[in-house]
Formats: sequence, C-alpha cells, structure tokens
Amino acid sequence: MSNSFPTPQLFCSRCITFDYCRWNAGIISSEKVDRLKSVCEFVTNCPEKEIGLGVPRDSLRLVEIDKTIRLVQPATENDYTEKMIEYSKNLLSEFPEIDGFILKGKSPSCGYDGVKLYSGSHKADVRDKSAGVFGGILIDTFGEYPIVDEYRLENPAIWEHFITQIYTIAAFREIKSDKTIQNLIDYHSRHKFQLMAYDQNLMRLMGRLVANQDKQSIEEIYADYEILLLKTLSNMPRYTQNINVLYHALGYFKEKIGSEEKQFFIEEIEAFRHGVFPLSVCLHIIRNWIIRFEEEYLHSQTYFRPYPDILVNLQPFSSRIEKLERLQGIKKN
Ligand code: SF4
Repeated sequence: MSNSFPTPQLFCSRCITFDYCRWNAGIISSEKVDRLKSVCEFVTNCPEKEIGLGVPRDSLRLVEIDKTIRLVQPATENDYTEKMIEYSKNLLSEFPEIDGFILKGKSPSCGYDGVKLYSGSHKADVRDKSAGVFGGILIDTFGEYPIVDEYRLENPAIWEHFITQIYTIAAFREIKSDKTIQNLIDYHSRHKFQLMAYDQNLMRLMGRLVANQDKQSIEEIYADYEILLLKTLSNMPRYTQNINVLYHALGYFKEKIGSEEKQFFIEEIEAFRHGVFPLSVCLHIIRNWIIRFEEEYLHSQTYFRPYPDILVNLQPFSSRIEKLERLQGIKKN
C-alpha cells in the first residue's frame, strides 16, 4: 500500500470550476473536481470560446437539418459545425497524454452523450439525444480512456470507478517512460488484485503478455498490455467481483485473526453488498491487518489503497442509515 501515488493528468471542460466561460458567463461548481485539483494536473479548454464566440454569447444547440447534426446559434442562425469540427480535430491531434476526461454534460459542444437534438432552431421539439460536436470527436479519439461528465461524477460508484481508473492508468503511463520488462512485471504484480476485481480473464491474458511466451519486442509487449489494460478498466467491476477479491484477501489472515474479528469483517462485506458502506470501508479493515501482520505481498497491492485518502467517498450519512436500517430489518419496506 503505497503512500506515494502518480499524478493523474486529466482533461476538463473549462467551465467546470476553472473559468466563467459559459454562454451566460457562468461557471459550474463541482466539489469532486475541486478535490481532484488537489492531487491531479489538469488540461482545460473551452471550445466555444476558442472558436471565437466570446463570453457572454448567445447559446448554441444541436439541430437536425437534412438528416445531419448541426451546431447552430438560434439567435443569429449561424452554423458553427464545421468550425467546431476543425478546431476539435486539430486540438485533439496534439493532445498530451491524458489519463481521463471530465466533460460538461448536456452541452452541445462538450457533452459526450445525451445532448438534446432539436428538430429546428426555434420553438422546436427535441427529436433525439446525441453527442455534442467536441465531445463526439473526443469519444472517437479517446473512447477507450475514462470519460465522465460532472453529473456522473456525483454517483458514488462511478466516482470510485473513475478515480481507480485514472490512478491505474497514470501508474502505467509512468512506467512507459522507462519501458523495461522488470517495470512491467512489477506493475502487473502490484495491480494483480485490482485487475482481478475488474476482469480475471483479461488479467490472465495480461499475465501471459508479461511472461512474454511469444518473444515479442518490449515495444510490442507494452503496446498490447496497454490495450488490454484500458479494456480491463473500461467496465465498472460488479460488486460480486470485489466481494470475491475481499474473500480472497481474507484467506491470507484466517489463521491469524479470531473468529469474532472474522465474523465482523464478513458482516462488513455484507454491508458493502447491500450498499450500506462503500468498498473503502472493507479495504480499510484489510489495510489494518496488512500492517498488523506485516503481510508483505498484500502490502504491495494497489487494490487496498488505489488512490489518496482525500478522494475516498463517503455516501451521505442519511442514505447509509436508511440502508443499514433495512439490512437490520428495523425499517420494513
Ligand atoms: S461546455 Fe465546453 S464549450 Fe461550453 S462553456 Fe463549458 S467548456 Fe466551454
């Protein structure tokens, strides 16, 4: 369990906490982004401002015209589609290495899904939902990387998934700067429980790559490993997979702890299963055992401390109490 973490490099739509650049000169507040700022480095951009629309400006919307999606400013009837596409492609082709993206949800420019697509510029119906122009191109270019909007970041499970992804990818980016087989062996070994929680089959495939049975070059091994790593991290682990890993970890201590302590831990796992506590509560108990019993192998596992404690999310107290009452049968549904 490391006390030193990599510094994830994130992209964020600039209007989320960074600048008053929205169409109405407003800014979006986000406690989650503020917390990330204390431990991550950010690249930000406001595509609408950068293509020359200025602040404040008349708002834009997506409009379906002749079966194509256009980025239109209803107040002026100007169509900014081509300008935005050209700007976005140029910008993204020169991007530095980024570990994850936070985009403004519902924006006709930055949104990456669920953006209202209107049937006309004025007083028109919403015909469908789509990606914004910049967000759509970003998904096409970096779709295998973690991408969220500020709404999804408020979901505790998505938040935990996103920060686990960015720290795991950032650690890989760091070893990529010195591509040796030993660095990759160490990385794979340290992340074994983490990868197991995401996808055991892909984790085994990655293990085979590291063993280099096919005698690939170091460049090929790193390139293939990265593809598998991003794929492994792309889907949120099911809670049952985390529970399997927690029981696997419990196996390391079952001869060392008393039956009451073991029972207590099993009850905490059940509380996690029912959504009363986040995963981090169970991880904290194991971290305590790792230190107490000096369990070297588990000590090296990032799973038990995947990111700095400042990012640990606790669900609102009221929601935890409600779930706890249900679990204990105090409150009848
Ligand atoms: S959503 Fe994107 S384009 Fe719109 S204000 Fe925010 S950063 Fe700028």
